[in-house]
Amino acid sequence: MSLPDRVDVLVVGAGLAGLNAARTVARSGRSVLVCEASDGVGGRVRTDVVDGFLVDRGFQILNTSYPALKAAVDLSALDLHPFVPGAAVRTEDGTLHRVARRPTWLPRTALTRLISLRGKLGIAGFTARSVLVPPQRQAAAPERPAAEDLARFGLRDADVDRFLRPFLSGVLGDGDLRTSSRVVSLFWRTFALGDLTLPGRGIGAMTTHLAARLPAGTVRLETPVREVAPGRVVTDDGPVRAGAVIVATEGTDAAALLGGRVEAPRPFALTSHYHVTDTPPTRRGLLHLDGTGGPIVNTMVLTAAVPSYSPDHRHLVVSTVLGDEPLPEPRLRAELERIWGVGTAHWEHLATRAIPHALPPALPPTPSGLRRPVDLGEGLFVAGDHRDTPSVQGALVSGRRTAQAALASLG
Ligand SMILES: Cc1cc2nc3c(=O)[nH]c(=O)nc-3n(C[C@H](O)[C@H](O)[C@H](O)COP(=O)(O)OP(=O)(O)OC[C@H]3O[C@@H](n4cnc5c(N)ncnc54)[C@H](O)[C@@H]3O)c2cc1C
Repeated sequence: MSLPDRVDVLVVGAGLAGLNAARTVARSGRSVLVCEASDGVGGRVRTDVVDGFLVDRGFQILNTSYPALKAAVDLSALDLHPFVPGAAVRTEDGTLHRVARRPTWLPRTALTRLISLRGKLGIAGFTARSVLVPPQRQAAAPERPAAEDLARFGLRDADVDRFLRPFLSGVLGDGDLRTSSRVVSLFWRTFALGDLTLPGRGIGAMTTHLAARLPAGTVRLETPVREVAPGRVVTDDGPVRAGAVIVATEGTDAAALLGGRVEAPRPFALTSHYHVTDTPPTRRGLLHLDGTGGPIVNTMVLTAAVPSYSPDHRHLVVSTVLGDEPLPEPRLRAELERIWGVGTAHWEHLATRAIPHALPPALPPTPSGLRRPVDLGEGLFVAGDHRDTPSVQGALVSGRRTAQAALASLG
């Protein structure tokens, strides 16, 4: 099907931000077209099928407390499977400590030797602030790197290194915890209030669901935009004129398309390794962390939480490291044997997903309110997680608010 000559709003990129921007425009009654370079919707939120297993493009979690997610997606349609709300942490002395928000686990969590008493009080204080202070105030509060912020709550290095660093770095991609305290405080709030889940058909079900709610023909796949200019874009299938153009790509791609109009971020990378085994090291859908500072920040038996990730009785284990260099298989096995406390010789490597531009940095200084400008003038707009927070929530909010700004510019 040929491209239209002209639309009210043209969106570049069918990730979460682009899809939510298109949804906002379509609901206003204006015409909208999404040009997506790749062969599917979702951007960083996609799932492949490998040998019958569901393989997400990097281990991701769907947090049900994201307000923008609840507004954009019918969560009941996603067949969500919750994880055990907590974590198991392997420490230097070989002990596996389990902590969770489950009422039945509370005594064990309160008594755990994983964290010092001072550290437990610190986490309680940090959690209270994240939950009780309204999000808008947290987003505008005085900021500092997260590591400094945690220290202000009395959290010593040992407590941070054993638990918070592996947990948070797996979410932020930032092993040094330099991310703004504003962002980490808001993330912690979503962990405290929401369920960590995955859809039965993989994380990509979230974006295919969002795309399916758009008017037919809105998204054109395999249509890379080569040039963006006020009032028009150029694709391989010809130019399209538009009242407003929203570039909703990852930050470095946006900087390239928009010339000097936006700064290129220096994103954090993540790499996820997927293994298959007949005998899982646990039947619990619980995130396992390495509290010894090893390269694997988290690992989990995905099929223990979401059995449909496997085509049969076999189990799928995902293990994530920081950076875009896959860990060599012998080292990976040795680390996994230490964390899981079982042999992994019979595990089969299924896939590796290295994502160089996984998450944009949100280091201080961030703008008060955590919202970067999206209106670049002359009918050009920019959306994506790099304009808000590095998350599903940030990408969705960004798509919505940028579309609103574009609609306002059309009058
Ligand atoms: C491994 C990993 C783990 C993560 N874990 C979590 C998590 O647990 N929780 C959480 O909240 N968030 C997590 N995130 C972050 C979250 O996935 C992203 O913030 C979000 O998906 C970003 O969406 P986006 O729409 O801004 O960008 P993208 O998803 O990158 O979408 C951009 C789209 O633009 C397209 N495009 C690029 N250039 C062009 C062009 N020239 N023409 C047309 N199309 C183009 C791309 O193909 C892509 O489809 C994780 C991300 C990764 C990678």
